[in-house]
Amino acid sequence: MGSIRVRFAPSPTGYLHLGNIRTALFNYLFAKREGGTFILRIEDTDPERSEAEYRQALTEDLLWMGIRWDEGPEVGGASGPYLASERFSIYRQYAQTLIQEGKAYHCYVTEEEIEEMKRLARAEKRPPRFDNRGRDFSKAEIEKRKAQGIRPTVRFKIENPKLKMNDLVRGEVSFNLDEMLGDFVIQRADGTPTFHLAVCVDDALMNITHVIRGEDHLSNTPKHILLLEAMGFKPPQYGHLSLVHGPGGEPLSKRLESVSVREFRRKGILPQALANYIALLGWAPGDNREIFSWQELQKAFDLKQVNKSRSNYDSQKLDWVNGQHLRILSDEDFSRHALAYLKEQKLLRQDETLVHKILPVFKDNIEHFDQLPERLEVLSDDFQYESPAMIQTPEAKEIFRTALDVLNAGMLLPFDDFAAQIKPKVKAKGKNLFMPLRLALTGKEHGPELKRIFPLFSRDQIKKRFERALAS
Ligand code: GLU
Repeated sequence: MGSIRVRFAPSPTGYLHLGNIRTALFNYLFAKREGGTFILRIEDTDPERSEAEYRQALTEDLLWMGIRWDEGPEVGGASGPYLASERFSIYRQYAQTLIQEGKAYHCYVTEEEIEEMKRLARAEKRPPRFDNRGRDFSKAEIEKRKAQGIRPTVRFKIENPKLKMNDLVRGEVSFNLDEMLGDFVIQRADGTPTFHLAVCVDDALMNITHVIRGEDHLSNTPKHILLLEAMGFKPPQYGHLSLVHGPGGEPLSKRLESVSVREFRRKGILPQALANYIALLGWAPGDNREIFSWQELQKAFDLKQVNKSRSNYDSQKLDWVNGQHLRILSDEDFSRHALAYLKEQKLLRQDETLVHKILPVFKDNIEHFDQLPERLEVLSDDFQYESPAMIQTPEAKEIFRTALDVLNAGMLLPFDDFAAQIKPKVKAKGKNLFMPLRLALTGKEHGPELKRIFPLFSRDQIKKRFERALAS
């Protein structure tokens, strides 16, 4: 006890998006820096909405990012089980105790009555607050409702509705619950717990000291503090991160495919670059530094420097950060990561040894790996010419004939020497000489330096390319 314990508690109802993974990352980095414990807890309190596929996916996504948990599914720990769905009997006991102590009650108000209450509130422009009517049902009323087959929920009584809290990110926050909410449901009519009960019981029993989560939970926090206190626990410290907003200004959601961790993986973003980019969504390191390796991030990240201003997802900035991370890799590491990506995404279409050899050539001019398949077309003998007209002029044909003469006459030279031998024998100069050469060799107008590509091919391959260009 006494040491820091934090948790990431996703509900497996969709793929992790940038905002979710930021919550995981900030908890993880905070725990690392403080020498604390990082726990993964799966909040599958709503069995209908939770899916095994999403649980599997979120585990994979976290591991891919390099976020490893000290306690949780797969690794175990003293506070398990770490799946809410395996803890239902624990939650029920706590609900029972709260009822016995008069802090919660069986509520026989029906869904239809609640809907009607909300409708009225909307019509009168009042907040849709539950009016606590179920507290005061007479014995006879309850018996009547039971006889009608109505099954009760369990509601927690809100007794002390003014609350102040010191949020780790937002500073002092005060709530006037009187206006905001009435008694709230902690156990559904079918006996399953609501998120509020589960999260409080689990945070308490797992000795969580700091709850760092999205701002979308800020309005739940007063409920959680009151509930924890009613159960005899000291609430943890809360910190609420401002939401990340998407390209159209809307807060990110699990329904937005384009911002899921899956999608960034598919695009070929490096995990350390994604972590770097995400860390900057809300964290200001104090100097102007923007590029951090994974190790540097673990050292530098400080929760005190996380601010509450809104952050926006900017895909160009992410691409830039990723490009910077690609450039700092050694050629060998770049090729290893790129090849692993091409294989994982089933995009490896050419000879692996050749691909491995050519990859470093692209290190300085791509932003993410999914640009590679197009660049690697240079390895195929039957690529399309990007601008066929440029290889069809009499000047271009003269260049190709001369290139073939040079190739036939002697050894295969380094590209600069090869070009120097062609130059005096043709009319074209400068760009007019190099563009046809580039097109004949690579099919494209732009790309890596020819002197880097040239040595990767055999004399035979180069001859074939010039013969093909000549005949085109
Ligand atoms: N299960 C909640 C969610 O996915 C997290 C709750 C919490 O962090 O307290 O939004």
